[in-house]
Amino acid sequence: MPEKRGFLDDVNRMFDQAADLLSLEEGLARKIGVCNMTYIIRFGVRLRGQMHTFEGWRAVHSNQPSPAKGGIRYSPTANIEEVEALAALMSYKCALMDVPFGGSKGALKIDPGDWEQHELERITRRFTQELARHDFLSPSQNVPAPDVGTNELTMIWIADEYRRLKPDNINAMACVTGKPLAAGGIEGRIEATGRGVQYAIQEYFRNERDLARSGLSGELADKSVIVQGLGNVGFHAAKFLSEEDGCRIVTVIERDGAIRNTDGLDIQALKEHLSKTGGLQGFTGGEYDADGATALEDDCEILIPAALEGAIHSDNAHQIKARLIVEAANGPVTFDADRLLQKRGVVIIPDLFANAGGVTVSYFEWVKNITHIPFGLMERRREEKTNRALAGSIEKMTGNSFPADTVQSFMDGAREIDLVRSGLDEKMRSAYAEMSRLWNEERNIPDLRTAAYSIAVKKIAGVYQALGI
Ligand code: NAD
Repeated sequence: MPEKRGFLDDVNRMFDQAADLLSLEEGLARKIGVCNMTYIIRFGVRLRGQMHTFEGWRAVHSNQPSPAKGGIRYSPTANIEEVEALAALMSYKCALMDVPFGGSKGALKIDPGDWEQHELERITRRFTQELARHDFLSPSQNVPAPDVGTNELTMIWIADEYRRLKPDNINAMACVTGKPLAAGGIEGRIEATGRGVQYAIQEYFRNERDLARSGLSGELADKSVIVQGLGNVGFHAAKFLSEEDGCRIVTVIERDGAIRNTDGLDIQALKEHLSKTGGLQGFTGGEYDADGATALEDDCEILIPAALEGAIHSDNAHQIKARLIVEAANGPVTFDADRLLQKRGVVIIPDLFANAGGVTVSYFEWVKNITHIPFGLMERRREEKTNRALAGSIEKMTGNSFPADTVQSFMDGAREIDLVRSGLDEKMRSAYAEMSRLWNEERNIPDLRTAAYSIAVKKIAGVYQALGI
């Protein structure tokens, strides 16, 4: 069983450690560490012939800079402490990534599986009215995104309801990110968090010194990987790592157990099976085991927990075989487990960084919404024309033609998806470089998580000091 301390405690312990390392003045450290405000929402919706009361929260950890940003989750186990812990993580994540947002998070205590789609829509629209009424939803103050149990449909219901409430706000659609492409979204947002996990791992493998610290070596291709949770984040990370980097996803763990194949699972086929049947059981491309929890302890090189917090705790940490853990979920490794794993030389790429792809691409979507112009619109054809002229000149000067099968790849101007992926890759690489430098050069920075927190807290402290508050 996980240790008694909770998720919020763990986040605060990491924060305290970073504040101590930075020798932050106590009052300032307290100001940064606490959640600024948490709104408790209870509202009724008449469904199935009776009134149902729903409970939810929206926490703002920091609104410096504004807007505050963070997902909304629909989960029957959601609670106020979890929401505050996740809001704090968002503040530190945005600071680490240099994404100009404060940190927020929201949740509704509900199992989305219990309700029909049209019922979820009514519940979400009522939730939206409550959030907007108290300024916990607004393009300039608080901008949610999808998280566990919510998706782009939830986001468009929120955006549409907000637009009806504020018809004179030209930026109303920017009140939420993760919207469908046809309704104010951006290319690459659905895949963004999983894509960021892939970029994080690629960057780690480019860095030989850091790679050696985990005892791993060589290329990413053929590395064995376990993924816990084949939802939005886990699915995209597993898909890209297997299809593009040649990793073998040897085990996938879901609510109903685990599925194994040492040659590597077909992730697309497994996801289709999961969507159709609701579980892993019955998938013919691997061996099913109803005991999912112990599958985390299978042999592998890389473990990607992408489901929920506290999956790796002090009771199972010593059994984990992976040399590298990549925290695609928020808070999947408890504070105590982190210490045990570190003693064993296991490297953890922390959530603050590993799953920051979501908020980074949300930032791009928000910018697209408030500028009212898609990325690449003005430059694309101009770029293509320049490339064609350049290629034509080279062919004329050399008397040779470019190979027909490669010429198109550099002729085209950048599309929105190319720019989004390029921007995300750049953000991931530059944040990793900062963390890696601290980890390797500062004697009191024992791991990447401490490096990430130190960078983030230092940046936030700098803002508060500059503002004089
Ligand atoms: P999701 O709801 O799409 O997927 C979660 C998956 O985990 C589901 O398939 C679910 O069945 C599975 N799961 C739940 N309990 C499990 C258990 N006990 N064992 C194994 N599998 C289990 O959610 P998501 O959006 O993919 O988010 C996953 C994690 O990533 C969360 O911690 C979330 O906060 C974090 N995250 C998400 C985003 C995003 O953009 N969606 C961004 C940053 C961080």
